[in-house]
Amino acid sequence: MDKDLLAGIDPAWLTDTLHELVEVDSTVGYYPEIHAWLEEFLAPMGYEVTYDNKATAYVRVPGEDHEKTVCVGAHLDTIGLIVRGFNADGTLRVRQLGGVNYHDLEGETCYVHCRDGRTVVGQIICEHHSVHVFEDCRKMERDENHMEVSLCDDVSSPEDARALGVTEGAIVSIDPHFQALDNGYIMSRHIDDKGAVTVLLDVLRWLHDTGRKPACDTVFAFPIYEEIGHGGAFVPSEVSEYVALDITLIGPDYASDEHSVGVICSDHKGPYDWELTNTLLACAREACDEGKWNTQVCFRYSTDANAAYTLGSNLRSGAFGMAVLSSHGRERCHVDALVETEKLCRAYLMGEGREA
Ligand SMILES: [Zn+2]
Repeated sequence: MDKDLLAGIDPAWLTDTLHELVEVDSTVGYYPEIHAWLEEFLAPMGYEVTYDNKATAYVRVPGEDHEKTVCVGAHLDTIGLIVRGFNADGTLRVRQLGGVNYHDLEGETCYVHCRDGRTVVGQIICEHHSVHVFEDCRKMERDENHMEVSLCDDVSSPEDARALGVTEGAIVSIDPHFQALDNGYIMSRHIDDKGAVTVLLDVLRWLHDTGRKPACDTVFAFPIYEEIGHGGAFVPSEVSEYVALDITLIGPDYASDEHSVGVICSDHKGPYDWELTNTLLACAREACDEGKWNTQVCFRYSTDANAAYTLGSNLRSGAFGMAVLSSHGRERCHVDALVETEKLCRAYLMGEGREA
């Protein structure tokens, strides 16, 4: 393999861009801020962002070969909450958007995006929120019926909350709580999937800066409904191969750590395409550092590539991505995992591993 393909990946750029991205609120279905950010970020490189009707953002890059179009996707949406009603004291009753673990959200700052365009700062608390006040504080179930959003303002009734612009259907984003250490470790919410979005943006930057062309016409896709299972339900008709870049897992069953990229062979909906997955494995073998890639069966989650597959698109699907600890919580990875994910992505897009 042409090792120039892997040159110039800058861990500091990846870390800084990830930081910038996680700070842009984009809870499932809430896209105004992240779309504006994406357009502004890509415009100086001459890339045009287009959208389909379900608000998936696309960047199209012509390849050497126009016979085939491949798609690489990373979802913009993050897990969060939606306001479903009010308690008598003006705290907000919520419903989860995506696979929220309420235990993990307790005490975190959140941002309530109102339908009139206002944003109100809140905090996610348990109904029995203090050990000094409630005897059963530690025992109360942390679930949708006992967790609520307390607005950080003078609110003591539903009317007070409504006066700030909050209504049923306001969408709540969770503060990312980002921290990057000098040794390369990164702790933040929403590394799922903004780590992968960062990688795709860096690949676009690399193609722009080097003037290289991918092997095939390539669609970069950024859906906004992955966390509820249908971000990849629509795929442009010219696409015959869809590869999702999404998190991989750490723990029992997973031969991974925070430095690694994983190739997902199967998820909870079943296996990905045999040949395409083998191509991705061949790319990992060629492009990634020894010991920094692995294969995974992610049986408790699925990606947009499998959504595309199982919801009826006529295409081959595959997936890979950076391993994160504590997924859907305050996640942790090492910047190495982003570097390895980018190496694999470049190798795949430049047509490596195809004859293997
Ligand atoms: Zn994800």
